[in-house]
Amino acid sequence: MSRRKRVKVENRDLDEKLKQEDSESDQSERSKMASLSPTLFVGRRDSFSTKTLDIKEPKKEEKPKMFEEVKSDDIEEVNYKEMLNSLEGAAFQSRLPFDKMSSLEAECFSDLQGPSSHAFVQIRNRILKLWFEDPKKQLTQEVCVQKMEPPYNGDPALIMRTHAFLERHGFINYGIYERITPIPSPPKGKQRPKVIIIGAGVSGLAAARQLQSFGCEVVILEGRDRVGGRVVTYRKGPYVADLGAMVVTGLGGNPVTTLSVQMNMELHKIKQKCPLYEATGNQVPKHKDEMVEREFNRLLDATSYLSHQVDFNYYNDTPVSLGQALEWVIKLQQKNVKHKQIQHLKAVITLQEKLKANINKMTDVQELLKSMKAEKESLLVERDKGTSGEAGILQEFNLRRLNREMNLLCNEYESLVAQNNTIEDKLTQLETNPPSSVYLSVRDRQILDWHFANLEFANATPLGNLSLKHWDQDDDFEFTGNHLTGNSVINICMVGRYFKKK
Ligand SMILES: Cc1cc2nc3c(=O)[nH]c(=O)nc-3n(C[C@H](O)[C@H](O)[C@H](O)COP(=O)(O)OP(=O)(O)OC[C@H]3O[C@@H](n4cnc5c(N)ncnc54)[C@H](O)[C@@H]3O)c2cc1C
Repeated sequence: MSRRKRVKVENRDLDEKLKQEDSESDQSERSKMASLSPTLFVGRRDSFSTKTLDIKEPKKEEKPKMFEEVKSDDIEEVNYKEMLNSLEGAAFQSRLPFDKMSSLEAECFSDLQGPSSHAFVQIRNRILKLWFEDPKKQLTQEVCVQKMEPPYNGDPALIMRTHAFLERHGFINYGIYERITPIPSPPKGKQRPKVIIIGAGVSGLAAARQLQSFGCEVVILEGRDRVGGRVVTYRKGPYVADLGAMVVTGLGGNPVTTLSVQMNMELHKIKQKCPLYEATGNQVPKHKDEMVEREFNRLLDATSYLSHQVDFNYYNDTPVSLGQALEWVIKLQQKNVKHKQIQHLKAVITLQEKLKANINKMTDVQELLKSMKAEKESLLVERDKGTSGEAGILQEFNLRRLNREMNLLCNEYESLVAQNNTIEDKLTQLETNPPSSVYLSVRDRQILDWHFANLEFANATPLGNLSLKHWDQDDDFEFTGNHLTGNSVINICMVGRYFKKK
């Protein structure tokens, strides 16, 4: 799946900083992990850099560590056990800070301060790790107390309380797992709480299962004649195609990771190679493909700037759509191209005028030199006749004056010639490097339209329907790491990209 969202402009500096820190820490992480096992995963945090405005400061401990196998470029197996085999990995996978309480935890455990809160975090990370070690089986309080390592096993009540918190908030014992203890019964004389869930999409189904495991009586009302909502698979004979969700958009912090382990579902990394074909069947040249993709991302950055920096989210009291903003930015770019063209022509004209003025000056100097030469020749003829007295002195004076002035004029002429050469060089340079006459050629625009269409596909609606202000509001909740898919799925990205001529 090609990138559908980009960093908001205001965070670029932060992202750069994070990337730099990441590449440094990745280096040490890599060498650390490589020394542990030859098939271990290496740290990868680049996708985390797609953060939005709300992130005030980088919190190192919250930066996820994504794990990516180092075997081949294409389809790879993913080893969850390795991935979650550390306290840090378990905390990250649960979207919790590794070495401190989350705000929810701080609220629920406000009685724990200082060393007690530290003990809580240690216990919590160990319980999470125990859960990820075997998510096919319910993790009970008893097992947690029994398996808690010293020195954190000294307070069984805190372990049970932490377990209850994690279970209640869906950090453990979620998905499809074997229950060890019976579903809790309501207190004596009370009935099970009844819950009605509207919609049997993945959210409704997961919520129903979770509420059932808490002891609720659940009814799901679904408007369609099937469950699954936007997850729907088309099957015909041996052919299978997903019409809705089909890609696990990153395993990092994604509960689907746990579900896939629970269901023994093999996931495969999606190929990064995604060639784009023209209607002729020819592949778009790599440099062109990359150039247009860069431009596409630049345009998204520009719309992000419009929205988040200059608050251009309303025009005439009407919300601006992403599609509108993109077309505006394109028009501005086209205007910019015209402006550059005008600037270029103005520069050419200025130089040509300079050249003309220079040539005129050279002609004047030549004319002057010619007349001086004639004057000098006649003076020389006079001198040869042997003039004496005052007239002879005046003759000699005039000859010397003429010599000096002619010398000066020759120097001036030479400097005018040099100036001419410089101006001509500059003109040649300008004329051989004219600015682009169009912002995007017809072909470039077609490729760009593919990116727009892909964005519409990713958002399941035309760009004109997407709100400029809110279309990327879920960026904060993005998962990290590679995109993966299950077996036997027709995956458009894996097959290739294709666009039609308008
Ligand atoms: C084409 C497409 C491709 C996608 N690809 C991916 C992907 O690759 N990876 C990914 O992670 N996500 C993908 N998504 C998004 C993903 O499918 C959804 O985020 C997810 O399925 C949403 O689940 P949900 O349960 O919240 O909502 P839904 O799946 O929409 O479920 C809502 C259910 O509620 C029912 N309902 C609604 N109103 C009522 C009512 N009043 N009464 C009764 N029933 C009602 C609906 O019929 C539906 O069954 C894709 C979405 C689409 C459309």
